[in-house]
Amino acid sequence: MTESIPHDEAHGGALGSRLNWLRAAVLGANDGVVSTAGLVVGVAGATDDRSALLTAGLAGLLAGSMSMAAGEYVSVSTQRDSEKAALAQEKRELREQPEAELQELTDLLAQRGLSRDVAREAAEQLTERDALRAHASVELGIDPDDLTNPWHAAWASFLAFTVGALLPLLAIVLPPAAWRLPVTVLSVLAALALTGYSSARTGNAAVGRAILRNMGGGALAMAVTYAAGSLLGATGV
Ligand SMILES: [Zn+2]
Repeated sequence: MTESIPHDEAHGGALGSRLNWLRAAVLGANDGVVSTAGLVVGVAGATDDRSALLTAGLAGLLAGSMSMAAGEYVSVSTQRDSEKAALAQEKRELREQPEAELQELTDLLAQRGLSRDVAREAAEQLTERDALRAHASVELGIDPDDLTNPWHAAWASFLAFTVGALLPLLAIVLPPAAWRLPVTVLSVLAALALTGYSSARTGNAAVGRAILRNMGGGALAMAVTYAAGSLLGATGV
């Protein structure tokens, strides 16, 4: 049943990084759907008041998207700092011990399957053209001109979470009171089927199981918060 999907992990290049972005976007949207659905369904268990639902949903959307953006900013900044530090060290080593660095590059290329002579020749040519780029790519696996921008990553997470969160928010406030819960639950489960499908496809995983797990997680979140909200609403806390 498995179709052939490009082995994206094997290619570190443009395709791999595009798929990583896609995967991050799908996961961000999925987070937005589940956490906001849990929030608004929980509040709907306690009250019929539309403005309370809207307030809770909007606050959840903003809090979640900013939390995601801040987390992404911090994590990508840290990664970028360590990549920059590694490049600086590489630059220093190339300046101070060029012969050892040439030997290192030769060894790394030989490990990848080139014969000693060819590896030596390739290492010399790469060093002559752009030694730092060659070491960055072969030794560190990074492209010095293409370090991830933390602001882009933060903005992308913010958008992805917001898009996901808008679905349960609109589904709970737009329909008439009697339809709120069924519309929200059904549209959330449909969206989770879609995000489960997409993340399974981009990750080369079994599609059916990923969809079921994803829908199960969302259904559980809504059931728990609804039960908690109903309990609080009924006891009048
Ligand atoms: Zn090196």
